[in-house]
Amino acid sequence: MGRTECPNVGACFYAANVTTFRDPLVQPLGKKASDTFEKVFGLRTVGDLLRHYPRKYYTRGELTPLDSLREGDHATVLAMVDLVSRIGPPADQKYGTKPRKWGSERLEVIVTDGPGKLQLVFFASVQHHARQLKHGAIGLFAGTVSSFRGRRQLVHPEYELLPVSTTNPLMAGEIAEEFANELIAVYPASAKLSSWKISRAIDVILDTLDAGEDPLPAEVREKFGLWPRALAIRAIHRPTDRGDLKRARERLKWDEAFTMQAALAQRRLAAAAMPAVPRPAVTDGVAAEFDRRLPFTLTKGQRSVSEEIAHDLACAYPMNRLLQGEVGSGKTVVAVRAMLQVVDAGGQAALLAPTEVLAQQHYRSITALLGPLGAAGQLGAGEPTVVSRGEQTSRMGDPAPSPHGGLPPPIPPGHPPRPPYPPGSAGWKGDDIPQTRVALLTGSSGVRARRSALTDVFTGDAGILIGTHALLEDQVRFADLGLAVIDEQHRFGVEQRDALRDKTLGSRPHVLVMTATPIPRTVAMTVFGDLEVSTLSELPAGRSPIATHVVPAKERPNFLERAWQRVREEVATGRQAYVVCPRISGDAPGEPGADDSGNADETGAEADSDTDVGGQGDEGEDARRPPLAVLDVAPELAGGPLAGLRVGVMHGRLPADEKDRVMTAFAAGDLDVLVSTTVIEVGVDVSNATVMVIMDAERFGVSQLHQLRGRVGRGRAAGLCLLVTEAPGASPARERLDAVAATADGFSLSRLDLEQRREGDVLGSAQAGRRSSLKLLRLLADEDLIASARAEATALVAADPKLTAHPAVREAIDDFLGDRRAEFLDKA
Ligand code: ADP
Ligand code: MG
Repeated sequence: MGRTECPNVGACFYAANVTTFRDPLVQPLGKKASDTFEKVFGLRTVGDLLRHYPRKYYTRGELTPLDSLREGDHATVLAMVDLVSRIGPPADQKYGTKPRKWGSERLEVIVTDGPGKLQLVFFASVQHHARQLKHGAIGLFAGTVSSFRGRRQLVHPEYELLPVSTTNPLMAGEIAEEFANELIAVYPASAKLSSWKISRAIDVILDTLDAGEDPLPAEVREKFGLWPRALAIRAIHRPTDRGDLKRARERLKWDEAFTMQAALAQRRLAAAAMPAVPRPAVTDGVAAEFDRRLPFTLTKGQRSVSEEIAHDLACAYPMNRLLQGEVGSGKTVVAVRAMLQVVDAGGQAALLAPTEVLAQQHYRSITALLGPLGAAGQLGAGEPTVVSRGEQTSRMGDPAPSPHGGLPPPIPPGHPPRPPYPPGSAGWKGDDIPQTRVALLTGSSGVRARRSALTDVFTGDAGILIGTHALLEDQVRFADLGLAVIDEQHRFGVEQRDALRDKTLGSRPHVLVMTATPIPRTVAMTVFGDLEVSTLSELPAGRSPIATHVVPAKERPNFLERAWQRVREEVATGRQAYVVCPRISGDAPGEPGADDSGNADETGAEADSDTDVGGQGDEGEDARRPPLAVLDVAPELAGGPLAGLRVGVMHGRLPADEKDRVMTAFAAGDLDVLVSTTVIEVGVDVSNATVMVIMDAERFGVSQLHQLRGRVGRGRAAGLCLLVTEAPGASPARERLDAVAATADGFSLSRLDLEQRREGDVLGSAQAGRRSSLKLLRLLADEDLIASARAEATALVAADPKLTAHPAVREAIDDFLGDRRAEFLDKA
């Protein structure tokens, strides 16, 4: 709007000078500065910059402990100029003339915090710096810490002097104001953008900021005694005291938690608004028969969780549920019961496993549990004696599958759900039993197996499809996918969930996500915050506890000998053992797991052992030997401490059929000892295995160790887990291992695990959103705050799903999600 059209020139002029959160930075700062902010920190808007919170605050008069500086740090320190020495110029050079050679004159300045000293060196503009830096001046100095002849120094640091005890006219007005507060904000800075340049930009913005409508509803602010946003923003940048700062941070944490939870609540609601085919339980289907044949009684937890799921499946909107539970609590059987309910209702179920080994094991154990119930169409070479509903429909309704270049033909749009099974009629009579068929599909399935699995799934002959992420490929078409189960979810992201969901037309499948280990409450509320949560915390009765001990191999070599002795003893009584190593082979030093890439299926699994916080790299043991490798350890054991035992080898680089053969042999008791990578980490279930020796245990994460040891003690015999490590006695690595040995409670270990991860690792790129999304919120420390914010946000969204009455919340969600808005909400 031109100024002439405006009746109130003054107001318009004023309006043009108001800054709001969504304004591009160029508006208040100009092109040059805003370009720098974008280039250095990716900050584009006023809101982005205002959320670039100070990293810390210096208290006026308290100098930075200089001894804490480490070489390579980009540091901003508050210190006092002590000694200034101008070195050179050479005698023949006259004052005022240009030095003949750059570097022939330099200025050395020692700054101090009292006890500590730091040297500053200037090779250029010596004259200018010498005028500025006088003994007694106090300032902020920023640069990268380097070392010269054993002295730490900043070469050509940027600096800003505080207006103290000085008559320097250069330090008047503006700068004096900047340092007028007790607390001096220090921003995450870089060589291109110093803390005080950021500080000035913030000042410019704060001067004209109109914070707009508060995105946190007044009722919520009142209930929790929170500051208005405008006040909090000001205070976090320019606090007058520590009390202010605390209140500001509390309020701004709420913004993050509340916005995230409102987005998640909207996603849950959007997902629930999608249509899904109800799959109510029937009393005379495969599921009921399966229950009758179960070799054990379900635990109370399994029963109640199953009931929740059964109820969800019967609804006309999709289930989105997370089943989390203690290792060995029996999540699989809960999933199988859910899948059978869907099969009984005429649909199909998919079970997505993170590794080939686990997919194969699920296939073996589920077909075994089902027995004849899972053998539809496989009883004879000719006519099947019993016909499953799937087959029945495909024979009656669908066109016979014709191979379209090996692929099934496209699914007709609007493919109708199958009619409910007519009890006692067409399918089975008298002593016939209800049946279904289970198919397996992994990345390394052979051409024939793959084709037959694809066909069975497309026609509906297979009620259950088990597999790795090969299930997500476009060629996999279901006749009627009713339920997607995603096992050990920590390997998969939201994207995979979405990919599976997209395999149905029109309506959505129900989704059940299972975690490998218990997860902390805040992780459930954030990472899995769009899912309803069920928890299995008890183990089936009769489980023996797993005893875990740390074996300090370096300090006590005889302990290690004793460990192998224990393995021999167990084997002598007919038991079996695992030996776990961090990597496959020793021929590729460097990143362990990098050599696992031969099999795309498994890289995720085994490579994870490296990304786990473990202990790697953080203890400064640069000269550590490479981690132990399966292919070295196995022959050593077989030729030494475990000579005479039947030792097998398992890792991600084995061909699929070899993996299958080894696991089958181990499960059948044809091998005594399995030397393996973490490929056996998740889900592997051989109840006769009673002892596990984990080599270089400090290289694994806490939850991973808990998950690994969950492989033993699955039967009635007591389990034993030995954590072998060369980490020294009092190291953090040893403390971590001691913690694992001291508690069997996966929930408390998962908190410990979370403490040692960076938030971003936990949240993942998808959930953490743009870098700017979560700044202040800490998952563990702010658990209660997140829970309160979740309750408030959920209530708000329930009352006003589109947030029409709360535009400020809507805006905050948009900013929070940024580019991911569409995928996050619209694909929910
Ligand atoms: P997880 O929850 O770690 O995935 P699994 O589903 O692999 O655990 O179950 C562990 C073992 O416990 C399996 O061998 C399973 O058959 C067995 N199991 C499951 N439920 C029960 C139960 N109620 N009683 C006895 N054993 C059970
Ligand atoms: Mg499992």
